[in-house]
Amino acid sequence: MTVPQVDAADILLEEEALRRADALLLQQEVAKAIHPIIARALTPLATYFGGIIIVYYFLETTGGFLVMSLLSAITAALLLMAEHRWLADYRSIRQLEAASAVVGLLIYANILAFLHFHPEPARLSYFILSMMSVVTVGATLRVVIGGAVLSLSTMLWMAYGLGPDIFEQYAMLGIACAFVAFGMVLLMRNAIGRAVKARILADALRGKAQEQAHKDALTDLPNRRRFFIELEALLEPEANSGPFYMGIIDLDGFKPVNDLYGHAVGDELLIQVGERLRSIFVQEHMVARLGGDEFSLLITRPITDAALLALGRRAIESLRRPFRVGDRDVTISGSGGFAQFPRNGRTASEIYERADHALYSAKSHRRGDIVIFDDRHEADIGNMGRVEQVLRITDLNRELSVVFQPQVDVVARRTVGFEALARWDSSRLGKVAPDIFIAAAERSGLIEMVTETLLRKTLGAMADLPSDIRVAFNLSACDLVSERSIANICSIVRESGIEPGRLEFEITETAMMTDFERARQALTTLSEMGCRIALDDFGSGYSSFGYIHRFPLNKIKTDRGFVSQLGDGAIGHNIIRAMVDLCRNLDLDCLVEGVETVGQMEAAQAAGARYVQGYYFGRPMPVAEVLEYLSAEDDRVERRVS
Ligand code: C2E
Ligand code: CA
Ligand code: CA
Repeated sequence: MTVPQVDAADILLEEEALRRADALLLQQEVAKAIHPIIARALTPLATYFGGIIIVYYFLETTGGFLVMSLLSAITAALLLMAEHRWLADYRSIRQLEAASAVVGLLIYANILAFLHFHPEPARLSYFILSMMSVVTVGATLRVVIGGAVLSLSTMLWMAYGLGPDIFEQYAMLGIACAFVAFGMVLLMRNAIGRAVKARILADALRGKAQEQAHKDALTDLPNRRRFFIELEALLEPEANSGPFYMGIIDLDGFKPVNDLYGHAVGDELLIQVGERLRSIFVQEHMVARLGGDEFSLLITRPITDAALLALGRRAIESLRRPFRVGDRDVTISGSGGFAQFPRNGRTASEIYERADHALYSAKSHRRGDIVIFDDRHEADIGNMGRVEQVLRITDLNRELSVVFQPQVDVVARRTVGFEALARWDSSRLGKVAPDIFIAAAERSGLIEMVTETLLRKTLGAMADLPSDIRVAFNLSACDLVSERSIANICSIVRESGIEPGRLEFEITETAMMTDFERARQALTTLSEMGCRIALDDFGSGYSSFGYIHRFPLNKIKTDRGFVSQLGDGAIGHNIIRAMVDLCRNLDLDCLVEGVETVGQMEAAQAAGARYVQGYYFGRPMPVAEVLEYLSAEDDRVERRVS
């Protein structure tokens, strides 16, 4: 990982700036706390100045009545205005400072005017009152000190004119009062300052805790919780959201990296994936980590489906570039599903489910691609629910059956085995395709029963087949991760009396990768019993050749997709040749699946494949037809293998 270069001087400058910002914040917060104290002091002061006019009216004997009562009236009016207008709300520290300075000056002016008309020594002490008031209402230290100095120095200057005795008395009084006033004010401000500091700290801590609770600790991206809060917020009627997309991107091939290289490498990989996604979706509303190897997106700017697909594919492309983790390059990929508000749903769970379904569809049909939820998927969801419901109440033993598709050894020119494929002819739904009802059984927890039923039927059929014919049986990912299910499978095989070497279990990469360690244990158990293991649909997922040798495999079946590309020139051909070579190196059988035409058959042979399966040799057939097929075999296979 590269660490950005930072100058020490930069750090110091930054710290200084932070300290200054903190000091400013503290000053402002203290001012906010003092604001109501100052504002509330103004009405009593105004009342005093209003009341004093009446006193002047009755008692004033000098010619100062007019001047003094006018000044008092102005002061009272200004104080009321200040409280109810200018200081009604806290606006800024400067405004508060200016207001408190004006209040101080008004009080000072009133006393000055009074003393002008009543220059008796005893009344000099009024300046002490002026100082006390200013010290109490002064918003800042500047005002407090300025006001106090002005009042005291005027008092001392006047006292000086009245002779040294009086000057000395007032000097002592002034100093004592100044101490008392400043002491009081310091105590008060200190208490306020400390309370404010504690509040600022608590606010900051609360903010930080909230931020942490909403952040994924590993990638620094918003976490699942934050993501759903944001999604819910977008769905609030007040948010007035236009159409927006929610996406889920799930990594393909992350689990083996984690399992093979350890969690530290896995963690670092996730961090880098987060960075790449963030850099691609830099303009978008949110990129979050939902957990594990699942990331999510909110795209709120106006965007067409086509532009979204292009953007999503760019992200997938970027994930395909190797990641440098420590001293190794790691390659993974990703698939993504998107759903749109309001087209595909109006609540968070509807939209999430739809995006998740689109992702599921990408994973099962278009791995390594982006899928946007559409009407077909909506129909799927409806059907899936129905299939699950019906499956639950179905007599599996009566409605499920097994058909057999030949697997041919093109070198020995004979059929060496069959793949057992499940069929469901439902009394309620009609014929349901196996990938549909197997997935439904997996979701609804019925897969163990389904597998058991199919396995018993397959073993029953095998008893009627020649002993040199093998049968391949498909296992689901759920079978592999359940110890109980594997134990059950073993005991069914033992009970059947069928020689375990005739039975081959087919598993997909996805099944193997769901839980690497458990899958490995399960396969080891089956293989120790004497059964063979084939890796199915090889090449459709995140085919990492690196982990194959960690499983007790006997065979690899290439994904049907490569055969259909055989006609399109060299691509499929090269891939199949690479897989054939790989199998030869690892001492594994290689079967090319999905051969339909003579051209594909020839291409598979040219690539060096020995075993072939596909409609070209035979479609899946009921066991009754298998014997017939085998007896007519010599002739047919001879004709078909050139
Ligand atoms: P799969 O294991 O890859 O099975 C091969 C599928 O390819 C079968 O479809 C087969 O009929 C079809 N196929 C064979 N040759 C050709 C060909 O030349 N061209 C084309 N286009 N297709 C060909 P099927 O029987 O519909 O099964 C679909 C999937 O359902 C299977 O894929 C497997 O994943 C799952 N499945 C079927 N039976 C079982 C089962 O008993 N248990 C489990 N867990 N899954 C099963
Ligand atoms: Ca299969
Ligand atoms: Ca297959």
